[in-house]
Amino acid sequence: MMQRLAPQTGLGLRLAAGDRLVVVDPTGEQVSDLFCVAADGTGDWLSSGRTIDYANTIYLSTGDTLYSNLSRPMLTIEEDTCGRHDFVLTPCSQSTFDLLYPDLGGAAHPSCFENLCMALQPFGVDPGTISTTFNIFMNVWFEPGGTMHIDPPASRAGDRFVVRAEMDLLVGVTACSAEKSNGGVCKPIDVDVVRQPATTAAKGRDDAR
Ligand SMILES: [Zn+2]
Repeated sequence: MMQRLAPQTGLGLRLAAGDRLVVVDPTGEQVSDLFCVAADGTGDWLSSGRTIDYANTIYLSTGDTLYSNLSRPMLTIEEDTCGRHDFVLTPCSQSTFDLLYPDLGGAAHPSCFENLCMALQPFGVDPGTISTTFNIFMNVWFEPGGTMHIDPPASRAGDRFVVRAEMDLLVGVTACSAEKSNGGVCKPIDVDVVRQPATTAAKGRDDAR
């Protein structure tokens, strides 16, 4: 069942191999940060560097696999109706707002990093593990000389991003808290988990032998 994340909040969840995570932008122009670690105790975490290296692009979309720091497949993108996401930047944090939003004067501000920490804490995930997030719908691009731009998301109302878990995972997902990355206003994000039927999962294991 689709669950709505209020603006500037996050959610932690567990995916079994074969489960699908569905992330929908219900109103358009809203980013959702995604991070995950392996649930099998190996400590693998989602790695931007590995993934970009293997995919040979910074712009990942349908058919691309997201890898862990130990080069194990974690997630495969199955559906992407937007086509523009970021996997270069870290989640917004209190420091982000302190450094890039000086008009806030250092005031406390909700952030994806804090929301991911809270979402993953019940699973025992160390905040120091949370590094570069897969920033769904975030519109980051670079000039040939390297200058970076963060434009409003290209996502329109109803755009969907679906990943399939390639291993058992602990996942944190947010409705991003940074106004400047979200067209000026932070909005909700819808999340659903489609569980792999147990019988199909068992069959899949047999087939793999
Ligand atoms: Zn954020």
